[in-house]
Amino acid sequence: MTARILDGAAIARQIREEVKAEAFAFAQTAGVRPGLGALLVGDDPASHIYVSSKTKACEELGLHHVTERLPATVATEDVLRVVERFNQDPAIHGILVQLPLPKQVDAIRVLDAVSPRKDVDGFHPENVGLLSQNRVRFAPCTPAGIMEMLRREGIDPKGERAVVVGRSDIVGKPMAMLLLHSHATVTIAHSRTRDLAEVTRGADLLIAAVGKAGIIRADYVREGAVVIDVGIHRISTEAEAKDMLSPSRLAKFDPAKGAVVGDVHWPAVSEIAAALTPVPGGVGPLTIAMLMSNTLKAAKLFAKS
Ligand code: NAP
Repeated sequence: MTARILDGAAIARQIREEVKAEAFAFAQTAGVRPGLGALLVGDDPASHIYVSSKTKACEELGLHHVTERLPATVATEDVLRVVERFNQDPAIHGILVQLPLPKQVDAIRVLDAVSPRKDVDGFHPENVGLLSQNRVRFAPCTPAGIMEMLRREGIDPKGERAVVVGRSDIVGKPMAMLLLHSHATVTIAHSRTRDLAEVTRGADLLIAAVGKAGIIRADYVREGAVVIDVGIHRISTEAEAKDMLSPSRLAKFDPAKGAVVGDVHWPAVSEIAAALTPVPGGVGPLTIAMLMSNTLKAAKLFAKS
């Protein structure tokens, strides 16, 4: 079997077009232009890239955006002051605190300080509680994007055995909750799970959110399963490339530039799965699209209040 490729990038483009049109119509009728306030602390290059792709998306979709940059040495109180300013600003409807924050900053205090009605990442305990009660206000963007992709691809989790590998607050746990609300029978696996391959082989729908390049290999996947790869890793050696890349990607591989791969061992699993997300171009673009969608939702909430 050769897996159907679930083209997250194409679905993300569709979602962005829809958000753009809806945000424009909303600005015309309600007089509110959705706005995102981004907070970037320190010099982590990956965080800079993530924030700039999110603000670029705002620009493309006609959303207002402000980025506040703070040095890596700031104290928790300095970060809280910016969050409070965003909370009070009527032009900012969604707040994005780019993680990770520097060690000396109390990340929990900062995330808890974000107004739950502006918490477009869905990390605030109030929104986590609403999610667990199936009264979703803001679902975290990565699992929300995966659910949207499944819906648009006609893959219904109802009655399916879903296995989520990873139990982070950002991906694994909210993913499991959303699948449960969609009537899947959900198992959550993690680093202490005994015989992971045996657990994942039971999945009709397998979500890998581990953070270990290529951990999900052929013997982890049941023939005909749908496999969603959340992991993002950069590889740079020839040996890694030979192991992890498809022949067409391997032919173009340049060690100086490296290549991005996921938690799923693509060459092996693409022969077994019924459907599979690529990395790059799978889950990543959906995450940004859902952030835009949540920002529009936050602006609508603001207009109603
Ligand atoms: P995380 O907070 O590090 O969580 C990783 C999870 O994987 C943990 O629950 C951990 O278990 C589990 N785990 C680690 N090693 C394992 C093993 N050998 N077997 C089974 N489970 C294992 O990571 P995260 O934030 O959820 O992100 C996961 C991956 O997704 C990363 O590669 C990240 O870069 C990527 N990501 C991508 C997007 C996107 O938009 N595509 C968004 C967010 C994250 P314990 O809880 O027991 O430690």
